[in-house]
Amino acid sequence: MISSAERYSFDALHPFSLITDEHGTIQLVGRSLAKILPQIQEGRHFGETFSINQPSAASPRERPQKLLGELVVLTAHLNERVKLRGQVLPCSATSTQFLFALELSISSPSDISALNLTITDFRISDPIFDFLLFMQGQILNQERLRQAKSSLEWKNRITRLLLSIALSTEESDDEEAVYRTTLDAVCPAFGWDVGHVLVPSRNDPTTFISSGLWTMHEGDRYTEFYRDTMARSFREGEGLPGRVVATRDVVWIPNLYQDPNFPRRKTLSGEKPIHGVGVPIFVGDTVVAVLEFFKECGSFDSDAMLRFFELLSAQLSSVVARQRAEIAARRHLAGLANASKMATLGEIAAGVAHEINNPLHTLTLTSHLLKRLSGEGRLTNDILESQLSKVETCAHRMATIVSELKAFSRDSTHDEHKRVPLKALVSETLDLCHARLLSKDISVEVSDIPNTWEAECHPSQISQVMLNLLNNAYDAAMAQQDRWVKLEVRDQGPAFEISVTDSGPGIPRDIARKIMDPFFTTKPPGKGTGLGLSISSNIMTDHGGSLTLDNSSRNTRFVMTLPKTQQHNGRANTNHSSPYPSRNDSPSTLEPSPSFRSDA
Ligand code: ADP
Repeated sequence: MISSAERYSFDALHPFSLITDEHGTIQLVGRSLAKILPQIQEGRHFGETFSINQPSAASPRERPQKLLGELVVLTAHLNERVKLRGQVLPCSATSTQFLFALELSISSPSDISALNLTITDFRISDPIFDFLLFMQGQILNQERLRQAKSSLEWKNRITRLLLSIALSTEESDDEEAVYRTTLDAVCPAFGWDVGHVLVPSRNDPTTFISSGLWTMHEGDRYTEFYRDTMARSFREGEGLPGRVVATRDVVWIPNLYQDPNFPRRKTLSGEKPIHGVGVPIFVGDTVVAVLEFFKECGSFDSDAMLRFFELLSAQLSSVVARQRAEIAARRHLAGLANASKMATLGEIAAGVAHEINNPLHTLTLTSHLLKRLSGEGRLTNDILESQLSKVETCAHRMATIVSELKAFSRDSTHDEHKRVPLKALVSETLDLCHARLLSKDISVEVSDIPNTWEAECHPSQISQVMLNLLNNAYDAAMAQQDRWVKLEVRDQGPAFEISVTDSGPGIPRDIARKIMDPFFTTKPPGKGTGLGLSISSNIMTDHGGSLTLDNSSRNTRFVMTLPKTQQHNGRANTNHSSPYPSRNDSPSTLEPSPSFRSDA
């Protein structure tokens, strides 16, 4: 008899096995085997249920001891899908019982499902069970792989989009262009019907109004909504933009129709619900713009989309902050440029005073002479005429100096380019420093400049650069025995080359590397600002030209390259940054474009 404990452990260890006596009569059948072959009967020869596929020579009524040591494969008569493989073992050394230690053998997982087996029908170390676990693992891995792949694809898409926005806004200093680029990129990429930008109102910066930047890909449905949007302003907390300002975060509204704090829902039309998202743009802690996007509900991963808008908010905020900082820096530099010009004026003041003093002296002498002659009754008409013409010349000379000084000192930051003759520009500049140079016996040589040579430029800025170079030349030449300064102008095709050379000792190599840096000076405190060359260099690059130190010259020679013409947008024909804010600098806040609003 087999006890229930023995049966239990037999079922657990050998669910697909059976035990026979020495004649092959079945004495015990494993639980799972009985489940798939209910017709199997204890007390019958195993050959009645199974045929022996292997060893192929075995007869159907084989005795178990004949099968010892062989790999045995059995097939059930009544269910062709059931194939068992294993070995026949004596139950003990003295036993007359034999264990057919069998395992289920299948060729495809579907064989198992047809047999109605579950995981619990297998023993833990059963190869079939292992196989099932393996299969399940494969399926799970594939699912995970699929998820990982789609999340990677999404991240790639987002990265590519953010990168393309970053690249196209990298060089720009136009805030409006940044927003326009963003709307144009984001809407088609993710199927948003509408993209719109709001900015603080100039009259009341605590309310947000439309900037006029609006893109629409799904026309009719939003016509009324567009008009409504253009006409509104939003205080903190009001509507979508107001909530973005209040929470200082991306705001996601899953269904605009059902949102009581979305007043514009009344002018939306259509059946399907619409999503809305609001994205803040910060400079420091201040929200400087709100981007809003609208889209008919569809199947997309809103968490992933939200994450994208958070990244967009961070990225655009840094672009806009960078732009505003650059504009502020340019304004500051323009201020410095003006300060440096004033410092230059200070340096030449003595020369200018001398320049004015000479004719003034002549005027005084003339008036004394005329008084004396008149008192002595010796003033003839001829004398009077000649002395008066001398007075006229002196007065004219003084008026010229004063007007040149005025032209030089006025803030030319916002001037348009002008076509000017170089000869006049050079001579007006020399007028301001000639006397100063001569006072130290520094001779000035100027090359011949034809009257026809003209350049389009900001004349007072170019004059400022020449004056800077001449002042530096004065400082360098002054301490020498041999004192001279040479100013030459050459026609180099598309540009003029204006050079200033001096008889000074030259510039050592380690200093020459730094002279264009702002605030670098070797002059004593109170004398040098260190701004002259750096500002001069900026002025030249802003004109599309350059300022360089000619390393091949034996003497110190600075070369200004000035293009003959400028581009029509009023900026230089290169994209170098300028120390001056140009006329088309974007305002710190975008005002709604009137034409856009009146279109509505
Ligand atoms: P600053 O004249 O106020 O020092 P600049 O930017 O004009 O500022 O010049 C920077 C430095 O370049 C000067 O301090 C000087 O060392 C050097 N430098 C400029 N021009 C000359 C020159 N012609 N000869 C020798 N050194 C010069």
